[in-house]
Formats: sequence, C-alpha cells, structure tokens
Amino acid sequence: MTVQAHKETLGFQTEIKQLLDLMIHSLYSNKEIFLRELISNGSDANDKLRFFALSDDALYEGQSELKMWIEINKDARTITVRDNGVGMSRDEVIDNIGTIAKSGTQQFFKALTGDQAKDTQLIGQFGVGFYSSFIVADKVTLYTRRAGVGPEHGVRWESAGEGDYSIETVERPSRGTEVILHLRPDEDEFLQEYRLRGIVKKYSDHITWPIVMPKITTDKDNNEKTIEEEVVNSTKALWALAKGEVTEEEYTEFYKHIAHDFEAPLTHIHTKVEGTNEYTTLFFIPARAPFDLWDRTNRRGVKLYVRRIFIMDDNEKLLPPYLRFIRGVIDSNDLPLNISREMLQHNKQIDNIRSGAVKKVLGALEGLAKNEPDRYATFWKEFGRVFKEGIVDDHGNRERVAKLLRLSSTHDDNPSSAVSLEDYIGRMKEGQEKIYYITAEGFAAAKNSPHLEIFRKKEIEVLLLHEPVDEWVVSNLTEFEGKKLQSVTKGQLDLGNLGNDAEKKETEQASTELKPLVERIKNVLGDKVKEVRVTYRLTTSPACLVADENGMDVHLERLLKAAGQPMMGGSKRIFEINPHHPLLETLQTEQDEVRFNDWVWILFDQALLSEGGQLDDPATFVNRLNQMFMGMVKPASRLILPD
Ligand code: ADP
Repeated sequence: MTVQAHKETLGFQTEIKQLLDLMIHSLYSNKEIFLRELISNGSDANDKLRFFALSDDALYEGQSELKMWIEINKDARTITVRDNGVGMSRDEVIDNIGTIAKSGTQQFFKALTGDQAKDTQLIGQFGVGFYSSFIVADKVTLYTRRAGVGPEHGVRWESAGEGDYSIETVERPSRGTEVILHLRPDEDEFLQEYRLRGIVKKYSDHITWPIVMPKITTDKDNNEKTIEEEVVNSTKALWALAKGEVTEEEYTEFYKHIAHDFEAPLTHIHTKVEGTNEYTTLFFIPARAPFDLWDRTNRRGVKLYVRRIFIMDDNEKLLPPYLRFIRGVIDSNDLPLNISREMLQHNKQIDNIRSGAVKKVLGALEGLAKNEPDRYATFWKEFGRVFKEGIVDDHGNRERVAKLLRLSSTHDDNPSSAVSLEDYIGRMKEGQEKIYYITAEGFAAAKNSPHLEIFRKKEIEVLLLHEPVDEWVVSNLTEFEGKKLQSVTKGQLDLGNLGNDAEKKETEQASTELKPLVERIKNVLGDKVKEVRVTYRLTTSPACLVADENGMDVHLERLLKAAGQPMMGGSKRIFEINPHHPLLETLQTEQDEVRFNDWVWILFDQALLSEGGQLDDPATFVNRLNQMFMGMVKPASRLILPD
C-alpha cells in the first residue's frame, strides 16, 4: 500500500468556520480555558492507550509511562501541548478535527440568537474542545501518530482557523499528539510559565496523568541555568478521595473536564460502596440540557474505571437511558481489567452497580426536591421530559420515579407549574377516588379542552399532560398510591361520589327525552362514531368526542399514527352532546334535513378541532360554516356545495 504522503488542503465543514468565529467572540473573556480543553483531550488519549494496551502490550512501543507535557517557546511565541497517548491516523484527524460529528449541531446553529450573552451560554453547552485553541492562536499545528503503527504514518495538520486546513503524512518517531499554538500578537501573557502553571492548577489538577512543565533553575552563583521536568498537577483521581478532601471548586472543574461543559453542574453525588462489591461513583447533574439529550443512543455520560484505569464510556450498561443526562464516573474495585462490552452485558456485578447507582441518583433527586425545590425545578425544566421515560423504563423504581414527577394541572393552569402527584392527592376533594388527567398536543389544547368543563365547574383538579412522552407515562402508570389515574376523555363520565344524584337523574331524563334527536344524529354520522349519547360533562361546549372505556386514548392514537405505526382503521369514538346547549335545542326543531346534516357535521368537526385533532376534510367544514353564516345574513340564500 502506498502511503498518502501528499499534502492536501481541505475545507472545514461550514459549521466549523461559523463555530470558530462565534467562539472567539463569545469565549474571549474566558480564553484561558483553551488549555483545559487540550489537556482534557490529551488525558483522554492516554486513557484510551492504556485501555487498548491491556490486551496488546506492543502498543506501548516500549514506553509505558504515560504523561503530558506543556512547553513554552518565547522566541517562536508558541505553546506546545503534547501527550504520548493513542494518537490519530490521517483519517481520524480529518474526521475528528475537520468535522463536527456531534449530533445536534444543526439545532445548535438554529438556536443561536445573535445576542452575545445568550450565545456564549449556548456555546458552553455545545462544548467546543479543540477549537478553543483559536481563541488565543492565529495558527495551530498538530502532529500526531497512532500508537502501534510505523513512524512513516505520522500526520501534520495545520490551520489558521480561516475556513480550511492542510494535512500531510510525515515521519513521526514518537506516538501521540502534539498541538502547537502560534499565539495571536496580543496574547503574550500565555508565554509566562507561572500563568500556565496557574491555569493547570486551577482547571486540571485532578487529571490523573502527570502534566509536566520544564522548570528553569539557577545555581547558587545565579548564572548557570538547567532545565528539569516538574509535575504541575496533583495527579490524584478526584473520585477516589474522601468526600471531605474535595472542595466544591475541584468538583466543578472535574465536572467540566469529564462533561465537556463550560458551566458548573447543578449538583454532584459522590458515594463509596463497600462490602462484597466495592465501587465508587461520582455523578453530576448538569445545570443545562445538552443539545443531543433527545438522542437515546447518546452514550457519553458515564465512564467506567476499574481500579482507576479507564475502561470505557458506556452509559447504557451503566445507567438506564432515562438517566442519560447524568455525567460522571464509576470506578469498580472488583471487575476484571480486561472486561469487554459483551461481558458488561451479562455481568452480575455490573447489574448490582447499575441498580445501586440508579438508587443513588433517585435518592439525590429526592433530596433536591425536598430541600432545594428551586434547584429541583431547574433540574425538572432541563431534564424532566427525559426523566419521565423512567416510568416506562424502570419498573422496579416506578413508584419513586412517579413521586419525582412534576406536572401541569388546572390547579394553577400554568404550563411550567410543577405539581407532584402527592400535591394532587393532598388537594383531592372529599369523595374523590381517582387522579384525573387529560393528554393533549400542547398546553393550550389541554387547558381549554371541553372535557374539562364539568371538572372546572366542580373545582376538581385535572392534570394537564401536554408533552408527547406523557402518553407513555400514563399508559404505564395506571395508579399512584392506591389511586387510579383516569383520563377525562375516556369512557362514560363517572365522578363517583363527586357527581350529584340530581345531575345524574337529569341526564338520564334528558337521555330519554332526546332519544329521537340522538337517533337522528347517529344516522347522519353513521360509521364515523361508535355511539351518540347525552352527557353532563359539558357546560359551555355543545358536544365533544370521548374514547371508549377500553379503547385507545385519542391522543395516543394520533401520536402512533404520526410515528408511522400502522393502525387498524383507528378506534371509533363516542359523540357526546350537551342537552343544555342552545344549539342542540335549535337542532331539535330543525326540519330542513340538509341543514340538520350540516349542523351535525359542524358540531362533530368542532369537537375534533377543540381537542387538537385534524379534520379529514377542512374545506367542507369551512363551506358548511359559511353556509350557516349566509343563512344568518340572508336567510333564504344557499350556496351550492360540491358533493
Ligand atoms: P471532544 O473532546 O469534545 O470530543 P474535541 O474537538 O476536543 O471534542 O476533539 C474531537 C476529537 O478529536 C476527540 O473526541 C478525539 O477523538 C480527537 N482528539 C482530540 N485531541 C486528541 C489527542 N490529543 N489525541 C487523540 N485524539 C484527539
């Protein structure tokens, strides 16, 4: 095979150029973080090499002492950050450094506002890593060679961050990566050794690999200068320390390193478990959701270590998907070092660690909810939608997850209110047996649904579930603390002891009286509905649609349809009419069959619309309405409607 020695100039992905410009502007006031990002990458590269070398010692190429180095060259005005980790091949450099492989990049750019303060926060969320070099450098040169390949496979990459980069294959005796920053003219502060040491201490003290800087010493006559290597960081694995030995700042900096986040976390959970299964967990809940949170396959959250040795990033085996927002490490004392992904799947110790870890996270969230409701509210706002999946994912902890849910309700009709199921039960009316809820597409559709009319009249609280995931939540959570959850759009309205007998009697009486009308309506709607009946559910609306007691909830059906799920023609609904509504009184006396038909279809379509549904034939609906308006304006006129 011939080596691709030729030099190429390639364009960055367009987004990268944009990202670079934005970052230089946004992060300028915090520019020193470039060093943290480069050290973080070097540390990851060393971690990876050590892991691969567990099964292939030759990768060390006779040099197993892994380190990082930072060097300053005042004459050339450069800073060099070097590691002897796993390195990259030419293709890897193109993939990792020339493209943003992260999912969510598009959303990120859409979310940008042009307002610098806001965008700075966004960029922090995105995590810019390597590119932060360009905040202080106007040219970056990277040399790298993958561990275990010949010296002829070295790579030189260079860019001024202006839209393109060059790449060529070079001779490279030593493995690992070296990043040379050619500082911008006004960045001389970073040529000061003490300044760089300060940054390393501040951000990267917890890095477990030695970070080495040359130390310049003078002899006693003050003239002879020798250069020694000195380790700048403490190299202690933060999670292995006792809780009392770690400061809040150290936790924060460690979080920023492992989570690639620029902001401090919301909270951390640090636990040591002793006994037959010994392990340590250090988890963080970020303060803000990352862009790719919705991706259930995103597995970067939790890193597994065995006796301080990094083994892998694999969120799925270590924590269930509904906790995928957690960042942190698990370090086991008993797992074998050569554990593979396949082994993780069926490992009893891993199962124990996983269930212990879930309990720790739930415990921490319960503590937050109880003692720091404001912070819990932030957590809920950012991650609630993902956390709700726990009702479906985690049967074993369903009750605990359910207690942590925060939902909107008619209690205050606020889309961002946070009602817990316990709050709801605490407010239940005397005689109320069920927890009532409505699911709908969006908050307004839920809040204004005609199905709520009787509940509002009687001041019975109803949960307003308006997020897509809610449908799955309620189909899995059928009861809470002995109280059944009941959809208000399903089945015959049964308010149990809350209904009053007079109302029921009246409805029964109305049903008998209106039997002929009900029949007439049924004839018009035909197969479209399962049944037509009189209801006392409504106070101001003329009619509504409800699902059969055993039928599928309408909103769920719609979601499944939207998701491309094949449906068996959909389940038929029940059309309920309000006997007290003036329109129905008018209908009763309507002699003109054509107009009667129009009225019935208008009422039916309105009922569909008001619950957020879509009409099969909106144009005919509009024509029918106009027909009615015309009748009001000019009683004798009639449009000729198409069939
Ligand atoms: P992130 O670190 O968030 O993935 P970066 O832009 O910093 O983003 O790096 C992109 C990728 O480039 C890394 O995930 C890694 O695969 C690769 N990379 C960066 N620096 C190094 C390095 N020093 N050694 C090996 N690979 C590296």
